[in-house]
Amino acid sequence: MRIESDVKLDFKDVLIRPKRSTLGSRSHVDVNRTFRFLHTGAEWNGFPLIAANMDVTGTMAMARALGKRGALTALHKHYPEDELVAFFASEGGVHAFYSLGAVAADLAKLAAVRKRAQPRLLCIDVANGYFERFLDVVKQVRDESPESVIMAGNVVTGDMTEALVLAGADIVKIGIGPGSVCTTRRVTGVGYPQLSAIIECADAAHGLKGQVCADGGCTSPGDVAKAYGAGADFVMLGGMLAGHDECAGDIRYEDRDGQKIPVAMQFYGMSSETAMKRYSGGVAHYRAAEGKTVETTYRGPVDNTMAEIMGGVRSMMTYIGATQLKEVSKRTTFVRVTAQTNDVFGAS
Ligand code: 5GP
Repeated sequence: MRIESDVKLDFKDVLIRPKRSTLGSRSHVDVNRTFRFLHTGAEWNGFPLIAANMDVTGTMAMARALGKRGALTALHKHYPEDELVAFFASEGGVHAFYSLGAVAADLAKLAAVRKRAQPRLLCIDVANGYFERFLDVVKQVRDESPESVIMAGNVVTGDMTEALVLAGADIVKIGIGPGSVCTTRRVTGVGYPQLSAIIECADAAHGLKGQVCADGGCTSPGDVAKAYGAGADFVMLGGMLAGHDECAGDIRYEDRDGQKIPVAMQFYGMSSETAMKRYSGGVAHYRAAEGKTVETTYRGPVDNTMAEIMGGVRSMMTYIGATQLKEVSKRTTFVRVTAQTNDVFGAS
């Protein structure tokens, strides 16, 4: 047994210190970025935010709505083949990742879709990116889809980030346990404070000219700003994008003065009992659910929330004097505001 006693931080443990700046107005900053991806050489320009590939948020309607803002959506992996083929041939398809897991059925479905459509963004997503075969799966997908941008994860350490970039990932997805409906830290005791994970993995990926996507744990536009400050190239959001018209799931209405008012929507983790019942007939006897089901406030069109997030990021940039989003991490000084990370379970 070993104990690592270096300080590791979460979003709530820091604030971004303001810096002298000549920037007069939020309208002078550019929240879009251009990336050239390591393995494909392809270029992408937009606001580097991705809706999570969860049932509720990873929808085609979300991809169309976020696409209007230059942002992306990782579609959830349960769409039928025909729907995916049609979507990737449509205009909305350029704003979406095709998501897959790492089992043979996932690879077979991707191969079948690729015969009929060309998703240019792929997200190979597993809860634990540390199992041996994961690197082989990433290598295989890289070999079979040389023209596609591959995002793969999740991991939280520099060594695995480097291994994934070398195996063929353009973007490595970072985060184990920080999600708003994730209970991994509580159920298994495993995890890593998210801000430190982003800092360490970004450093590792950037050294090889790869990128990272900070996945999970953002609960406000300020957290998204901190993720970019820590070095995230992309930020993935689940909970912050739940509860909107573009999400999948029923809206709960309340009767107020004879009027039906939308008040709430369901949101659940992809390893929750709700998801496992839907896709695997329940929680298998050898495993425990590592996600939970919650009700989120209904918030109308997602575009309002996107405006709030982009407004927060723009404002942060004026506070630290960054005209371009790519300058943000160089211009970020975090101030620690907690003595240590006590509340390791976050929101769960
Ligand atoms: P959020 O933005 O809601 O804080 O985090 C979203 C992320 O939580 C997802 O992109 C995914 O990585 C993670 N996640 C989603 N469902 C589950 C789950 O059931 N269990 C765990 N451990 N993580 C989940």
